[in-house]
Amino acid sequence: MSQSLFWDPMIETLPRAQIESLQGMRLVRQVDWVYHNSEFYRQWYSRAGISPNDIHGLSDLTKLPTMSKDDLREWRKKTHDPFSGTLCVPPKLLVRMHHSTGTSGLPNVYGLTQKDWDDVTDQFARMLYRVGIRSGDVTNNWLESAMSWHGFTMTAPGARRIGATVYSLEPDNRSIAQTNLEMLAGADMTCLFTYHPEFEINYLRQRDLDPKTVHPNLRFIYSAALTTPTRRKLLEEAWGVPYWNMGGGGDQYLSESECPYSIPSMHMPEDRTIVEVLDPVTHEPVEPGQEGELTVTNLWAEACPYLRYRLEDIVRADYNSCPCGSTHVRLTYRGRMAWSVEVGGVRVFSDDVENVLWRFPATEFAQYQLVKSPVQPQPRLIVRTTRHADRIHDEVRFVSQLEDAIAEELQVPTTVQLVNPGQIGIGTVKFQRVAVESV
Ligand SMILES: [Zn+2]
Repeated sequence: MSQSLFWDPMIETLPRAQIESLQGMRLVRQVDWVYHNSEFYRQWYSRAGISPNDIHGLSDLTKLPTMSKDDLREWRKKTHDPFSGTLCVPPKLLVRMHHSTGTSGLPNVYGLTQKDWDDVTDQFARMLYRVGIRSGDVTNNWLESAMSWHGFTMTAPGARRIGATVYSLEPDNRSIAQTNLEMLAGADMTCLFTYHPEFEINYLRQRDLDPKTVHPNLRFIYSAALTTPTRRKLLEEAWGVPYWNMGGGGDQYLSESECPYSIPSMHMPEDRTIVEVLDPVTHEPVEPGQEGELTVTNLWAEACPYLRYRLEDIVRADYNSCPCGSTHVRLTYRGRMAWSVEVGGVRVFSDDVENVLWRFPATEFAQYQLVKSPVQPQPRLIVRTTRHADRIHDEVRFVSQLEDAIAEELQVPTTVQLVNPGQIGIGTVKFQRVAVESV
């Protein structure tokens, strides 16, 4: 066990039984709070025939109905309340407001009271300490400068709480390399928060740049993105330092990160959040260790807590203690349910495909898309990808090489189609990984 990994050693190593009893106490308090202070929950629970009197501890959790982004959207449509009826305090008490990305509709709005802000800052400090940030470190934060509407921007105060210097100067998240290696050359940065490997690594290669000549004390890079083994390898080779991943959605300020023993899974602080893994269709808990939809219950927020909130991410959970000494759950992310297709009996996630595609120099960092039939399962996997034409001698042969490699690794019949970049939409945060079309 390495206590030096923990910002808060006492809570990180709390015995499982104590974590669960803490969760039970906080759940009882939270249900009472939301029921009496939010119109959404009062109606949501009344309709399910539940009141705070029915919740006495953790074992009563499954009595509560689950909720999803669509439920919040529906409420908002009906009431025009940007907080979808979930705000439990007067809006004037919010010291910060954030919103979701809005990939699939109008973004959700939520916020933090001063007490919430202090809690999240501490929670994010725990996450950042686990990836290696220490007092005296010098880092960057493109979220704070360019995406201050996003909940994960709380990584900036989190790093400052540890005692790090945080430069938040990127004009957007595609200029991380320029800002931190040109404008901030001489700032002696010790860890860098990256995001778009294709832009950053291109920048390094075009200038034949070794980041350690600019920042000789650079120890690691870190990010918050689904990370395939291929993506990690490319990042570590290009930057010449280890890569650490964090995670969690913005809308409940989830703060997960890898420890040296958990890669690629991430620890989630269970004293703050109850983690459930549910069957995506029945919403019943899956067998231990099986894949299912990540569902979280916020135990700390007074402003906008979501309870039994289904996140649409498919994960596996390991509740056993980790060799690092932490007793908190480790989550392995498979991908977004919406970014997967079912081929025969196999569920294929976009990351599974990326992991194979990006290994080939001609499709390194390619934009790609899975074609999903409206009727699932479908008989073949169809992958569209961009490519570096100058790295291919024979396109027909290359396509068949790719098809063989994907089919062998994922065990599904595969067709690959080469497309031009304009044919796949790309935003600052995500490109469209699945296109629904008849196949
Ligand atoms: Zn660990």
